[in-house]
Amino acid sequence: MPARATNQSSKFKVQGSKFPKRETGNFKLETRCARLAPPLLGWFARAARDLPWRRTLDPYAIWVSEIMLQQTQVKTVIAYYERWLRELPDLAAVAAAAPDKLHKLWEGLGYYTRVRNLQKAAQQIIREHNGKFPRDFDAVLALPGIGRYTAGAIASIAFNTPKPILDGNVMRVLCRLFAIRDNPRDKATNAKLWHLAELLVRATATFPNSKLKTQNSKLLLSGPCSALNQSLMELGATVCTPRSPACDACPLRNQCAAFQKNLTAQIPNLAARATATARTFHTFLVRRAGKYLVQQRTAGVVNAHLWEFPNLEATGTSRSAANSARELFKLRTARPRPFATIKHSITRYRITQEAFLLEVRATPKISSDHHRWLATAELHSLAFTSAHRKLLHRLAPQLSAKG
Ligand code: SF4
Repeated sequence: MPARATNQSSKFKVQGSKFPKRETGNFKLETRCARLAPPLLGWFARAARDLPWRRTLDPYAIWVSEIMLQQTQVKTVIAYYERWLRELPDLAAVAAAAPDKLHKLWEGLGYYTRVRNLQKAAQQIIREHNGKFPRDFDAVLALPGIGRYTAGAIASIAFNTPKPILDGNVMRVLCRLFAIRDNPRDKATNAKLWHLAELLVRATATFPNSKLKTQNSKLLLSGPCSALNQSLMELGATVCTPRSPACDACPLRNQCAAFQKNLTAQIPNLAARATATARTFHTFLVRRAGKYLVQQRTAGVVNAHLWEFPNLEATGTSRSAANSARELFKLRTARPRPFATIKHSITRYRITQEAFLLEVRATPKISSDHHRWLATAELHSLAFTSAHRKLLHRLAPQLSAKG
């Protein structure tokens, strides 16, 4: 890891700070943004949570944290992040890692395309940037799995580049601060929000470093652009929450248009979520001579490359588990025994896994390159989808009870 800089440094360098000339129409907005920065940064210096990725300026570590935090809560990510950095301390280690190891380290975080893109990007950095994480924003944006938000987060947090960020938390804060009542996901409104986020980070770029000292001396800041973007994220995550924002504790309440107009419950104006769809699967823990049949999900499907027990969707059919087993394994007779029911959600789907134990003497006609017969100890070394891992955990005690 590169040497850590400290937030005590007296010379913050602002990367890429070639701002276009101030447009007259923006002047008022720029002034408003400049006035938001001091209370926001002062609050962040006092209230910033001590998170492991805030104790480093290593762009590799910051990148890993940003990818893990996409769609995943902070409290879930912490243990994954720490384990990942222990196992894969640098870019070269990710580029060279076996895909099975990467999937195992990511097991349970979901959205597994993220981990495959991490490896592709690490390999690209080795090839095209001599193994050094690029400082150039466009080069970061060109890496697999990195969009405008993530590139802005890495550029500002690791290198103090005045690039904006806009995720769900920041969107909500900005909509409320400026009382924007349109749907923030609509194209024009979204562009307006990016513009505001950019004005804010630019307005902060020359903020004096003496005012950035965080109360927790372990936290490191590359400069004011990092502090600004992180304070927006932090405010959205801890104060300006979706329901019942803590406006009384908010450093920006005097400048917040939604608070002053009593509109915090109506803003942001997000379209209703798609209604949930129920799906049911018959899942089989097929045992032969003490080993279980498992299959690896193929490329291009949800949870690709992860392992699972054989299963068949039963939604909308009157098919019994025995019929599902006969169909899946080409058996003449099958007597599956109820084992467990696992409920979980993937995006808008509410999924019920009805799991059955199925003892077989002969090998079912299902084997292919994607299938393996393994003992439970071996199964634990594979990366399973979350629901199937729960089944695996329930399987082990039952086995030991039977001796
Ligand atoms: Fe959010 Fe309330 Fe602060 Fe406005 S005053 S930014 S609504 S927490």
